[in-house]
Amino acid sequence: MATLLLSDLHLTASRPHAVAQFEAFLTGPARSAGHVYILGDLFEYWAGDDDLGDPFNERIIAMLAAASAHVPINFMRGNRDFLAADGFTRASGVRMIDDPHSIELGNRRTLLLHGDTLCTDDTEYQRFRAESRSAAWIMTMLGTPLEKRKQHIQTLRAQSETQKRTKAADIMDVNATAVEDAFRASGCDQMIHGHTHRPGFHVHEVGDRLCERRVLDAWYEQGSYLAHDESGFRSVTLA
Ligand code: MN
Repeated sequence: MATLLLSDLHLTASRPHAVAQFEAFLTGPARSAGHVYILGDLFEYWAGDDDLGDPFNERIIAMLAAASAHVPINFMRGNRDFLAADGFTRASGVRMIDDPHSIELGNRRTLLLHGDTLCTDDTEYQRFRAESRSAAWIMTMLGTPLEKRKQHIQTLRAQSETQKRTKAADIMDVNATAVEDAFRASGCDQMIHGHTHRPGFHVHEVGDRLCERRVLDAWYEQGSYLAHDESGFRSVTLA
């Protein structure tokens, strides 16, 4: 049975096409798959599990819950939805996995990541990442009333978009040494991640090993996923 991997859907009410494609994915190819892995940034943003009642979130969660009855859906948090927690997994039926997480794929140990931890050249982002994953930051954030928190997230998003325009493009890609370190630390010789929105296939020389890295595409223009079965890997674009 196939393993299906996807990331960076950035689902939001203002992009109904992506939502429709995700629904088609969950009711179509996902149903007959062995495993589904969502490697972060499923949502444009997740303000906290106290936002489960938002009608848009409710709709996505109902879709996930229906699909979860047929196929195990594994969910890794990205930089947009790292506030998703137990309330989200309980409501949706998905299984939360850590970043990174390793699996066997075609007899090869495969490291799954969202991808942002590999972008170490972007020191400004890494500082924010470290700060925003601290218990203190999360407690303050979740302690802020939901509407105010959503406004704050929108401000952070707008700041991030402005910063992105002034950053050199290669700063926002993965750092080769960070990739090699991840291969060494995990013992994996295959890696799959998203986040950079630069779909591709790369070979890295790590000591005397040749390691392969596959980058998933984002869903801004078009939905897509990576499938793996007995015959290998296949990139699939959703209609
Ligand atoms: Mn991301």
